[in-house]
Amino acid sequence: MNADLDGLAARVSAARADTEARGETFYPGPSRIHLAMFPPKERWDDWVELDAKSWPRRVEKRYMLVPTTCFNCESACGLLAYVDKDSLQVRKFEGNPESPGSRGRNCAKGPAVINQVTDPDRILHPMRRVGARGAGGWERISWDDALDTLAARIRAAIEEDRANEVMYHVGRPGEDGFTERVLGAWGVDGHNSHTNVCSSGGRAGYQFWMGIDRPSPDHANADVILLISAHLETGHYFNPHAQRITEAKANGARLIVLDVRLSNTATHADHWLAPYPGSEAAICLAIANHLIQTGRYDREFVRRWWNWREYLVDVHPDREPTFEAFEEVLRGQYADYTFAYAEAESGVAAAKIAEIAEIVAGAGTRLSTHNWRSAAAGNEGGWQVSRTLFMLNALLGAVAVPGSTYPNAWNKFVAEPIHLPPHPAAWNELTYPLEYPLGQNELSFLLPHFLDEGRGRLDTYITRVYNPVWTNPDGFSWIEMLTDEDKVGLHAALTPTWNETAYFADLVLPMGLSSERHDITSYEQYDGQWISFRQPVLRAARERMGETITDTRQVNPGEVWEENEFWIELSWRIDPDGTMGIRQYFESRSRPGEKLGVDEYYGWMFENSVPGLKETAAAEGLGALEFMRRYGSYEIAKGIGPLHESPVDASELQTDVSVDGRGRVFSRDPAPAKVNYAPTGAPDPDDAGRRPVGVDVDGQVLRGFPTPSGRLEFYSRTLVDWGWAEHALPTYIKSHIHPDQLADGQVPLISTFRLPTQIHTRSANSKWLDELSHANPLWIHPSHAAQLDVQTGDLVRVETELGHFVVKAWVTEGIRPGVVACSHHMGRWRLQGGFSTTVALDREGSRWAMRPTAAHGSFASDDPDTARIWWSDVGVHQNMTFGVHPDPISGMHCWHQAVRVTRAQPGDTAGDIVVDTERSREVYRDWLTKTRDARSTSPNGERRPRWLIRPLKPTGDAFRIDGPVARRTTAP
Ligand code: SF4
Repeated sequence: MNADLDGLAARVSAARADTEARGETFYPGPSRIHLAMFPPKERWDDWVELDAKSWPRRVEKRYMLVPTTCFNCESACGLLAYVDKDSLQVRKFEGNPESPGSRGRNCAKGPAVINQVTDPDRILHPMRRVGARGAGGWERISWDDALDTLAARIRAAIEEDRANEVMYHVGRPGEDGFTERVLGAWGVDGHNSHTNVCSSGGRAGYQFWMGIDRPSPDHANADVILLISAHLETGHYFNPHAQRITEAKANGARLIVLDVRLSNTATHADHWLAPYPGSEAAICLAIANHLIQTGRYDREFVRRWWNWREYLVDVHPDREPTFEAFEEVLRGQYADYTFAYAEAESGVAAAKIAEIAEIVAGAGTRLSTHNWRSAAAGNEGGWQVSRTLFMLNALLGAVAVPGSTYPNAWNKFVAEPIHLPPHPAAWNELTYPLEYPLGQNELSFLLPHFLDEGRGRLDTYITRVYNPVWTNPDGFSWIEMLTDEDKVGLHAALTPTWNETAYFADLVLPMGLSSERHDITSYEQYDGQWISFRQPVLRAARERMGETITDTRQVNPGEVWEENEFWIELSWRIDPDGTMGIRQYFESRSRPGEKLGVDEYYGWMFENSVPGLKETAAAEGLGALEFMRRYGSYEIAKGIGPLHESPVDASELQTDVSVDGRGRVFSRDPAPAKVNYAPTGAPDPDDAGRRPVGVDVDGQVLRGFPTPSGRLEFYSRTLVDWGWAEHALPTYIKSHIHPDQLADGQVPLISTFRLPTQIHTRSANSKWLDELSHANPLWIHPSHAAQLDVQTGDLVRVETELGHFVVKAWVTEGIRPGVVACSHHMGRWRLQGGFSTTVALDREGSRWAMRPTAAHGSFASDDPDTARIWWSDVGVHQNMTFGVHPDPISGMHCWHQAVRVTRAQPGDTAGDIVVDTERSREVYRDWLTKTRDARSTSPNGERRPRWLIRPLKPTGDAFRIDGPVARRTTAP
């Protein structure tokens, strides 16, 4: 397969070169693909194709092609909706060649959006529960009823100083801050996210280096690509990245993959290393040590951009603060991370690691690296995996130059909105508790335990494309929380589809899919900046045909709504007369006193805060909004380059300029006009209140990085100041599943990997995807299987710290011996039929059991395909059996599990789950003891370093431990 793909890429390149040589025209959009590959955009108003289903008759179909953005993962690939001009319905989705990130390509999940749109089981109307929560009774209600119910509760909570009882909990945002600004307008610190079960580990490692929490690898131009992830099949931005990795390989780049499984990505690697899980940082450090000891690093880059001087002054005050002294200290600091040490930790041969180190050393600045989720999300201390991986870039100067890894904020564009409400002036300890002052994101998965301990209650809990009962660990604790009306007063689930959490809601509100709502997206996928527009495609099509649409419900199926209009309407109903100060942020600018509409919201943004868009649109005789509705994407800039090297403008260095001991330059000059709101760390002002504007590098004031020092922080004084001095440098933290930690008979379970054709919680209603992938057998090596007397297809019991689950075995050499793995995508369940398994839930006190009650299979619906379902195995919901493992620093849930695998016992059925939630509370308390509480570690009486990134960062005194908080934390 590897050779096939390489061959294909080479043939495409050769064909392109041939065509160019003949002087023929390529499609002029960003894809640079031949005309035959995509409908030319000039013909999108009236595109004619033969109808495949009418074959062998030649029946022409006329389409209007309308762009939107895929919402089936975070890659935000462009889609083109084929709107049938006769029926005014979408017939299919294909790739949008105008999308600079995806360049017309999609994975299987993009075209499968049509399954979701036509899903016979989708939610089409607002619903209210009847009877007990979770009992399955529902009645249809009006949107007015739902909005008035929510608005009255939220208004009362704000007016009665209970604002922290309002929480919005998002799974996949898919937009750049719209809903955060809604909460800001309400003055509520109620943003909660899924990030600490997803990417916080990876983010924290990058943030401590650069003040920016994501990498942007320039794979296409790299000579060496080093992945601790599965980016050719899944992972962050995988389709946009996979196509660029494939191009680089066609041009001779070498691909190195660290993965305990033989993933599809590993099959394409030139070098596949399958280390013991959790040992990845030891391998990175052995490579780093090789670069250091052999002097194969970019001395000038390290000298200019690492905060080595601060390190020497703080940690080695006895040494002269010279770079040569630092190099000597560095050699001593890392000397123990030998190849032999890495072999002992990882099980990968020292000679192989040495070979990889040489390849990395030879890459120079053309080394692109990426770690996201994977090892950073699996292990205690996983954040040091991304920190030690980026250290290789930082040593080689492979930062923000072609073929290297960029800070993501420089390859991303966040446009300024029409209204920018202030951030809340209070702190919610249910999301950022004092035990986790450095937690990268909200401690979202601990919410049931916090409420159980009496730390607060929720009056109004809104989940949005978020399914914690299924996605999070410890799902039975979530069911216990959601069914307790003393803990959760009202739960509203905003979701396009039924899911395991929506069953335990009071209101289920139908939200739009990729083609039924507005959003802006912009992601770091190459060295450039772009924005894409997700839009309700039938609205855009009918407007292009001359209709006036004033509400997206006029074109969406049933009463499915889009969220922007929903939040605007809800906010008006919370503050109908404007006296609470909320309504002003949802009012029209052009029609004062009237409600803001989505056309004005996006039109203003595109006209006023996206550089060059207005002019580009005008050149085609279009307004900026019209341009985006027609093409869906706009590339703002390419070749952004090393922004840290940009000189600070002299206009920012006029008033009361000062330089601190580490070279940070401050001034009182006003900040320059903002053009990019991409999230970065926000360095603190100095003691006199001056703003940090840059960093002194060899006598020149350069923009630098948004860290406290303005440099890349090899040494994190933040970690020292907050009680974690032993982890201030890139180092190796032994995982909670390190062999030293395993009891007799235990092995590590890898539960984090994705399948290319599934989407965490949203794909249960995509029939094509379900047919492709529907089971999650346990990967087990033949040597391990032989010990257990297990063969492929046999049932095994996997015993976790909370209970056990029963699953089929898959005996394969594609997994490291002594490690087992199970994809987390499967085991979707419900209490009544459909695409998911029908199960029964039994409870005796804290002991829960889930058992499938009927074989999965075909069923009757409006879609004849549901009668053709041929598979019966839909896997097991393993996450239910996992206790919570918050990393004491990053707060990331450490997903890997120590388990015992045995043959199934008599009476066991595939999909069985047994859990004791009293045990889950013990596990929670065990991990809490690992933390270092801000009440004892804070150096300044504050809850958290202000410079760290935080969604909806509160303002002013809210940071103080004794500052404003609506509900006081009670010490556990
Ligand atoms: S990678 Fe696939 S699922 Fe993700 S946005 Fe692109 S097409 Fe959609």
